[in-house]
Amino acid sequence: MKKNLLAVFLLLTFVFQTSALAQTAARANSPARNAAENITAAQLKDYLYFVASDEMEGRDTPSRGLDTTAKFMGMMLSRWGFKPAGDDGTFYQKMALLRETPDPQNSRLSVGDQTISYGEDYFRLSGSSDSMISAPLVYGGNGWFFKAKGIDALQNVDAKGKIVVLYNSGVPTRAFATSLPKGIAQADFTGERGKDWIDPLTYAKQKGAVGVIVVASNEAQTDWKRISTPPTVQRPFVEKFRTEVSLPTIFISQKVGDTLFADATKAPYRATDSAAAVAFNTSKNVGFSAAIKQERVYTQNVVALWEGSDPTLKNEMVAVGAHYDHVGMNPNAKSDDKIWNGADDDGSGTVSVLAMAEALAKSPQKPKRSILLVWHAGEEKGLWGSEYFNKFPTVDIKNVVAQLNIDMIGRSRKANDTNPKNANLSGENEVFVIGSQMMSSKLGEITKSINDSFLKLKYDYKYDDPKDTNRFFFRSDHFNYAVNGIPIVFWFDGVHEDYHQPGDHADKIDYQKMEKVARTIFLTMWEVADLAQRPAVDKQLPPELTRR
Ligand SMILES: [Zn+2]
Repeated sequence: MKKNLLAVFLLLTFVFQTSALAQTAARANSPARNAAENITAAQLKDYLYFVASDEMEGRDTPSRGLDTTAKFMGMMLSRWGFKPAGDDGTFYQKMALLRETPDPQNSRLSVGDQTISYGEDYFRLSGSSDSMISAPLVYGGNGWFFKAKGIDALQNVDAKGKIVVLYNSGVPTRAFATSLPKGIAQADFTGERGKDWIDPLTYAKQKGAVGVIVVASNEAQTDWKRISTPPTVQRPFVEKFRTEVSLPTIFISQKVGDTLFADATKAPYRATDSAAAVAFNTSKNVGFSAAIKQERVYTQNVVALWEGSDPTLKNEMVAVGAHYDHVGMNPNAKSDDKIWNGADDDGSGTVSVLAMAEALAKSPQKPKRSILLVWHAGEEKGLWGSEYFNKFPTVDIKNVVAQLNIDMIGRSRKANDTNPKNANLSGENEVFVIGSQMMSSKLGEITKSINDSFLKLKYDYKYDDPKDTNRFFFRSDHFNYAVNGIPIVFWFDGVHEDYHQPGDHADKIDYQKMEKVARTIFLTMWEVADLAQRPAVDKQLPPELTRR
């Protein structure tokens, strides 16, 4: 981009105007600065070696390791004199989950007079039905809809009252039933789900189908054993807000698929990647049931309040958060290491918020507004904890003036690192700042000026854009606060070689960097907490925030 002198001049006046304000929290010997300096690399390391230890077993949602981590934080918060702000005077906001496991004994698949055996040639993918579903079949190709790409697999398919048969080459996912159509990537999942893009199972349901049968691709057939083994918690949904029920869906082997298609008028499946849907006729009677067992399990967010010093402003809160869950363990992992410790993701945020709590507790002075600390569960499952907290808040959510989210701030790229997997990792004195300029000018200004007048980290704003193809703004807990109209800032170190790998260990963390970033966030928090007016949302928001 071309520089112009007017912009440079405006930038200078901007810096001069805001420097006085930034100094409030950041100036030497201010109460905020003194408190921030109580956050140390050694303390962060201590806490992280506990939270990311093998004993926490990768902090899956729900799991014993996650519960233990929650209890650890609750104990520290209690010692430091925090006010419990979860359910019933505790630090914990309980979330009930429904655990669904397949029930092969009570599931059936018949093709003509043939009965197919569970596990070997078919398994339940999602949804459920205790009774037999018997209906005409219709072929629906890969089943996907992407408006902007002109992809509409069910365009000419009359699926009403029928069982839709889907097929796509590649490795299917449990969530979406088939693999993505050719040429579709993360960046294409923009706009509104169900309107701008629709996954195959939702689309079949919208079209009035009564069930779905997915035929294995070559890749799925080769990997049958693995893909037919359901994960421990397959499709739990949080009660009260995840009540949409997906269509009964089964996955069948190619052998059974070939039987289904044997006397079809046309057999386009396996022909091309996104074979256009055609009419599908079979004289065979096909019916299936997909029974499940349900069990209620629990997990929790951890919620604590530090009351502000100003008699009026203390009714408002600055929220600081991280997710304390990770993705758990995999006993079938190929490597010797079966535990995904999640030291950076998001052990780093978890212990940073904990260290910030300790710094507040040790400080002789308090910020004017109250500080709300929330450690979210189930972020890795789809931002569950933050969605639950924002839909069923334990505090008056309208009084939350901003949310500062910390998800991965512990890793840094060394100058001599040539690993391409670390190409987008931030450096030792650098961090990505996302969202601060997307919602509130004031919050963006404070975020920047606090850093400029304190440790002068390199703030990289390249992902601070709703059009960013990585869509980081939509991929962590702050998003659910933003949906509630709360301006947010998200600190993130970037993806790296150990991102969502068993090697995300505590001994690979750059604790000096973490200390610097955590101290800077702490000062930002204090500055916002002491503002005379809460930061206004004055930016044009992306449709994902306004349409919900
Ligand atoms: Zn994360």
